[in-house]
Amino acid sequence: MLARTAFDLVFRNARTRAAPEPVDIGVSGGKIAAIAPKLVCEAAEVDAAGRLMLAGFVDTHIHLDKACLLGRCAHDHESVSEAIRAVAAMKRDFTVEDIHARGRKVIERAVSNGTTRMRTHVEIDPRIGLRGFQAIKALKRDYAWALDLSICAFPQEGLTNDPGTEELLVSVLRDGADLIGGCPYMDSDPDAQLEKLFDLAQEFDVDVDLHLDFDLDPSWWHLDEVCRQTERRNYQGRVAIGHATKLSALPPERFKTTAEQLAKAGVAVTVLPATDLYLMGRDATHNSPRGLTVAHRLVECGVLCSVATNNVQNPFTPFGDASLLRMANLYANAAHAAVSDFDVCLDLVTDLPARLMNLKDYGIEVGNPADLVILDTDSGVNAIAELPDILAGYKNGRRVFERTVAKLFPPDFSGNQQRI
Ligand SMILES: [Zn+2]
Repeated sequence: MLARTAFDLVFRNARTRAAPEPVDIGVSGGKIAAIAPKLVCEAAEVDAAGRLMLAGFVDTHIHLDKACLLGRCAHDHESVSEAIRAVAAMKRDFTVEDIHARGRKVIERAVSNGTTRMRTHVEIDPRIGLRGFQAIKALKRDYAWALDLSICAFPQEGLTNDPGTEELLVSVLRDGADLIGGCPYMDSDPDAQLEKLFDLAQEFDVDVDLHLDFDLDPSWWHLDEVCRQTERRNYQGRVAIGHATKLSALPPERFKTTAEQLAKAGVAVTVLPATDLYLMGRDATHNSPRGLTVAHRLVECGVLCSVATNNVQNPFTPFGDASLLRMANLYANAAHAAVSDFDVCLDLVTDLPARLMNLKDYGIEVGNPADLVILDTDSGVNAIAELPDILAGYKNGRRVFERTVAKLFPPDFSGNQQRI
């Protein structure tokens, strides 16, 4: 007879993407302690009933500080620069409490949609000062029970042309910012901005995550300079570029050589479908370009990629529920992914962003934190195709949310009226 092992919690009959048959997952001290069929143990039980379990979704690019601004401005912004201008005008009035309240709404939606790790880009400049950073730092602490929040401090409106910004960036890097971002296309000297950002990254030994470009003209770009700086500083595997919509405008041959360039330099790409689809191609009168870089094709070429949320309900993107599963479904649909690509589409919001963020403890493996979500489906392919309900989530083995499956009430043929 097998000896009984003591766990705090055991998930029964869970389908994982690694095993062909359902398994049990034992949790002890907040960590995954065993994965095997029919664990003999004493523990509280959760019956996954053959449903798919994942290690939680990973959002590498979301702006909590400028989320939920619908209603504060007109929404006729038809270009990236108009959206930036609209938010720049509003953010002078942002208070720490206001940013905290709006960020909290988005975090709670993200958590209840299964996100367990998140990298948020926080604007740092003399107009907003440190208010955004202070609010996000408080959110990181307040929601540590539900998700790990990583803070990427970045100058949205320029660095070398915006006196005082560099000093503020240095102060937040000293005060707990996890990495540095940037936006070279907003700078009067983009290469000098990149040089300065990489200097700071090396000085503070942090990763780099850039807003690279936001248009469909591949005749010029800062991608070569990013790759050059990455290699020169031995930063392969520590640099990501977001949006990179110019990549969507490349013919096949140039797409391939650029993918090889990115793979060789160890520069990752984050695609932001909701924003890119909303803002790109607006000057077309018909047959509008999608402006969506095909991440799953870059992955085939060896480039590390993620799909992420970016903005929620603001001038850049008036939509949003912070659901990465919905975003992966939107991406798969808009990027012409084949059914055989759906597994990679799910990777783009789970394993690949975990690698992009250099997380060493992600995944359903013994020893990792028991960060787990249960989806009302049975495979990765169906998770993308069906957009199933996400029924429950756990952080370090503790339940953080639960959702009930919809129940249908067919007519009662006995003639009794149903009362509400
Ligand atoms: Zn962004």
